[in-house]
Amino acid sequence: MIPRTLFQAEHEQFRDAVRSFAESEIVPHLMRWDENGAVDRDLWRQCGELGFLCPAIPADYGGAGSDRLYSMILLEELAPLGGLGISLAMHSDIVAPYLVEFATEGVKRSYLPRMATGELIGALAMSEPAAGSDVKAIRTTALRSGDDYVLNGSKIFISNGTECGLVVVVAKTDPKAQAKGISLFVVDATMPGFEKGRRLKKIGLKAQDTGELFFNDVRVPATHLLGAENQGFQYLMRELPWERLQLAIAAVASAAAALDQTIEYTRTRQAFGRPVLDFQNTRFTLAQLASELQIAQVFVDRCMQLLVDGQLDPVTAAMAKYWCTDLQCKVVDECLQLHGGYGYMQEYAISRAYVDARAQRIYGGTNEIMKDIISRTL
Ligand SMILES: Cc1cc2nc3c(=O)[nH]c(=O)nc-3n(C[C@H](O)[C@H](O)[C@H](O)COP(=O)(O)OP(=O)(O)OC[C@H]3O[C@@H](n4cnc5c(N)ncnc54)[C@H](O)[C@@H]3O)c2cc1C
Repeated sequence: MIPRTLFQAEHEQFRDAVRSFAESEIVPHLMRWDENGAVDRDLWRQCGELGFLCPAIPADYGGAGSDRLYSMILLEELAPLGGLGISLAMHSDIVAPYLVEFATEGVKRSYLPRMATGELIGALAMSEPAAGSDVKAIRTTALRSGDDYVLNGSKIFISNGTECGLVVVVAKTDPKAQAKGISLFVVDATMPGFEKGRRLKKIGLKAQDTGELFFNDVRVPATHLLGAENQGFQYLMRELPWERLQLAIAAVASAAAALDQTIEYTRTRQAFGRPVLDFQNTRFTLAQLASELQIAQVFVDRCMQLLVDGQLDPVTAAMAKYWCTDLQCKVVDECLQLHGGYGYMQEYAISRAYVDARAQRIYGGTNEIMKDIISRTL
């Protein structure tokens, strides 16, 4: 295998800590959490205590001021274990950076330390019932009224939606304009008029909290506007390469875990008097998937290096998101097939990997939108 060159010894120590936490505090509970449709709330606080939340935010605000490789490690270790990896990444590596980058000092001090401890969970609310891929078409409005903005509208499919304590809400401050009328707000879940809807039932990522949010005349102080009015779309675009690379990282790690499980399974499962691994079809399938995953890993690692150097462009990130999540779905499908009927049973991890993978081609911008972004530059 091509050696990975991204990580230093301290990163590997951090990986060991995350892995042993996952083995003792996550893996034993996965089935129960899937049945409950949620992880235990206390898990967030445990993650906070261990420094697994918001590692990249400055120490002044409760983080560790670490480089983003720590976030990559968290994703690589946790994404193969259901929706928790994506939930934590949404909180730590999507929501928190918007506050660090664009919030007023008061908002940073009020929310970031509580996000780092896990007291508050963060969400990002962009999608609406009638506007997903086409963010410019959102209908939620935030209209200025004295020292506040008055927020009205609804959001759907929001990760961390039912447990969140704060939400970065994407709203129109100029409803007649398209992208140039969009602004971002930090909305506190305790603000009057903010209501959470039901926890949505999904075919996969069952323990990952995905919800609906409603805003009825919510008065949001103007100090909760992120950055400048009508600049929200630009801010969203700035953060997208990192957000999309996170999904590619999760895809490769999840697919690699599925492949490992399948190698192990086919080694022990017997058919026609020999291990399933001995059939040429099995060996060739596994060889093909291992090769494709190696190629994907090298690409993702190179993208990560570019990101750390501040040079990852949106098109390359779109390529990584689309190609790696497509590959993930292909890998888990082939791996499930090699498990036979057992692969279709919930007690086998591959069945979870299969249903969990499917969302990856949809959220974070669908893979069709990724291809559209890429094609525009050709
Ligand atoms: C588990 C999960 C978690 C999510 N978490 C969040 C979250 O935290 N915050 C949030 O804001 N959203 C979240 N989403 C929403 C997600 O980002 C959207 O579902 C996604 O962007 C697609 O939007 P849509 O569902 O409205 O589909 P649509 O936009 O209606 O698309 C339907 C189909 O049309 C295709 N299509 C649309 N436009 C084009 C085009 N121009 N060219 C070609 N094909 C096109 C799409 O690719 C898709 O196949 C989540 C979704 C899921 C499933």
